[in-house]
Amino acid sequence: MVSAALLSEKLAVIAGEGNVLEHESMSRHCSFRAGGEARFFVTAQDTDILIKLMKLIEEEELEWFLLGNGSNLLVSDKGYDGIVIKLGDGFDDISVDADTVTAGSAAALSRIAVAAAEHSLSGMEFASGIPGSLGGALTMNAGAYGGEMKDIVRDVRIYFFGEGVCSIDNAGMEFGYRYSLLKKRRGIVLGSSLRLTHGIKEEILKKASGLNAQRREKQPLEYPSAGSTFKRPEGYFAGKLISDAGCKGMSAGGACVSEKHAGFIINKGNATATDIYRLMCRVQDKVRQAFGVMLEPEVILLGAFDENK
Ligand SMILES: Cc1cc2nc3c(=O)[nH]c(=O)nc-3n(C[C@H](O)[C@H](O)[C@H](O)COP(=O)(O)OP(=O)(O)OC[C@H]3O[C@@H](n4cnc5c(N)ncnc54)[C@H](O)[C@@H]3O)c2cc1C
Repeated sequence: MVSAALLSEKLAVIAGEGNVLEHESMSRHCSFRAGGEARFFVTAQDTDILIKLMKLIEEEELEWFLLGNGSNLLVSDKGYDGIVIKLGDGFDDISVDADTVTAGSAAALSRIAVAAAEHSLSGMEFASGIPGSLGGALTMNAGAYGGEMKDIVRDVRIYFFGEGVCSIDNAGMEFGYRYSLLKKRRGIVLGSSLRLTHGIKEEILKKASGLNAQRREKQPLEYPSAGSTFKRPEGYFAGKLISDAGCKGMSAGGACVSEKHAGFIINKGNATATDIYRLMCRVQDKVRQAFGVMLEPEVILLGAFDENK
């Protein structure tokens, strides 16, 4: 096993010294604004660097986690004893050709939606208010207001751990509800082509801004959160179950079930990841007792969590 000091040197040689941080607080990188430290936090500025980094990770059998925009993530207060990888500027490009938008996986969905609208391309409106990166949205098959990434993906470029770079088409991505191939096969989305349809720019912009106004009205966007905490159980709405189980306003430390939208757990100020996790467990218990339904977290948990601590 390589020592931390030697690993730090090797990472700096590959990624560049300024791109390697140690003991980096993940609360700076997660929309919950909570969580512990990553032992190493490495920004890979381009694909060559990323591939070299993954080779080192394979050789040394190191723990790694690929961070998108951190908008669906809760990192344990105990931290993560591995390498968190963030994709940098070389993964941020967006280009438009006829009905196809091609973007790097670090590009924000909101930016891609704007670029599509500027070219009078419709299909991204549903995603314009989702605060994730393209890579995170493809991994999660993010969706809202009747649309999901599955509807618009043509193909996805993925670095598969231990294999290299492959191009996967829409069917190959095995998209399902908040599910994709990446949930069962470890890989890193490098970029994707999205097939959209020609429309009228003003109507596209109007639809997107209408959906975003609905978000502002219904969701507690004024507080840090990770959006919907739980997946929608078949035949139910998580927010309604949570509300009907009497959980609205329930809190643990600085974490609280939003009064505005019970599907959201919010950080009301200085919530720890433990507070948030504890509240998630209490909400699950209450809903199970009231309705016999076990809510499954949509939020990705990274590191060790224990309900009792
Ligand atoms: C206010 C708010 C509103 C939200 N509304 C919605 C909504 O309407 N619909 C919805 O679906 N979600 C919503 N979300 C949740 C979140 O924005 C989405 O799940 C988003 O797709 C996550 O993207 P991210 O880049 O932030 O990913 P992260 O949170 O950083 O990561 C999520 C997962 O994707 C993986 N991942 C990220 N990038 C890559 C990559 N390049 N390659 C491989 N794996 C990768 C991570 O390892 C992790 O497993 C909301 C969140 C907030 C805070």
